Amino acid sequence: MNTIIIQTENGNLKKQDLYAAANIIKNGGLVAFPTETVYGLGADALNPKAAEKIYEAKGRPSDNPLIVHIAELKHMEQIARDIPDIAYKLAEVFWPGPLTIILNKNDIVPFGTTGGLTTVAIRLPASKIARSIISCSGGFIAAPSANVSGKPSPTMAEHVIADMNGKIDMIIDGGKSTLGLESTIVDLSSNEPIILRPGCITKAMLENVIGNIEYDRAIIGKSMDEDIKPKAPGMKYRHYAPEGCLTIFEGNLDDVIKTINKEAELCARSGKRVGIIATEETKGLYKHGNIISIGRRDDEDSIAAGLYAVLRQFDEIHAEFIFSESFGTGNLGQAIMNRLLKAAGYRVVKVD
Ligand code: AMP
Ligand code: MG
Repeated sequence: MNTIIIQTENGNLKKQDLYAAANIIKNGGLVAFPTETVYGLGADALNPKAAEKIYEAKGRPSDNPLIVHIAELKHMEQIARDIPDIAYKLAEVFWPGPLTIILNKNDIVPFGTTGGLTTVAIRLPASKIARSIISCSGGFIAAPSANVSGKPSPTMAEHVIADMNGKIDMIIDGGKSTLGLESTIVDLSSNEPIILRPGCITKAMLENVIGNIEYDRAIIGKSMDEDIKPKAPGMKYRHYAPEGCLTIFEGNLDDVIKTINKEAELCARSGKRVGIIATEETKGLYKHGNIISIGRRDDEDSIAAGLYAVLRQFDEIHAEFIFSESFGTGNLGQAIMNRLLKAAGYRVVKVD
């Protein structure tokens, strides 16, 4: 398949390109487009055949449901039922934006989109390009991240091209994703609201609006406990992973740097290709391997925005071993460490 690649100018999509993208989606095809979180792989959410194509292009297990993207709040009522007041409260504060809300689904949403579940995940993104494509294509777009299943999510069109060129109809290049981490997912389909996936909308931000909310037990802690099944089916899969063996070093930062330097030297001596995930503050302190700065320690947003691109850079140089510093777990750090730990398969070395 020939994949059409569309450039945007200053964040604007030309009318003719918008209509072309919308036509592809209305006819059951696939268009990758930018959002503020990561690039999405969009298809008509109400057409089960189109959803099937997403699973095929990504190599995604079909029990892993898709998030339905809308462009207007009122469209939530067409695809969901039993909507609690807190859904409107959260929508009012955080939409458009990086929050996904799970609700009981209406019949028009096919099980092919929800992975067989009776609930549906809904998000109203902030990206103007994303919203214009959604509105123009009928209002409901299923869009998981536009990467091959298991690889780091794409935060630039180049990442999407690397994974999807030749497999989908169109890729829209809207530059770098501003946030760089997937949306926070909140389940409101039962009596107790639960965070199924941490993201840029933090627990504290949610609690400011709706009071106490807990994390799904399966997603916190040091490793994924085999006995506790995550409520978001996608969270059980190995995910976000680079090709090389990634290890996270935890502890006092000076000791972490010393230990990583030692490990990197050992690897380099035996001819292994080594990558180091450093920060602006620490990158000058490493002596071996390919050192890439993920962002600034004093600016968590920059670390979130840099994470996936750094993991992909290590794939490009075929790093066999990757050593990473760790980050705090407050606020946005919870989401950053959730993704980093998954990418590392929970391989953590405690440095004393
Ligand atoms: P992605 O779009 O690739 O960022 O992944 C979407 C995430 O949302 C996956 O972890 C899914 O398992 C989760 N998800 C989507 N729909 C539902 C739902 N109805 N119930 C629980 N989790 C969901
Ligand atoms: Mg994904």
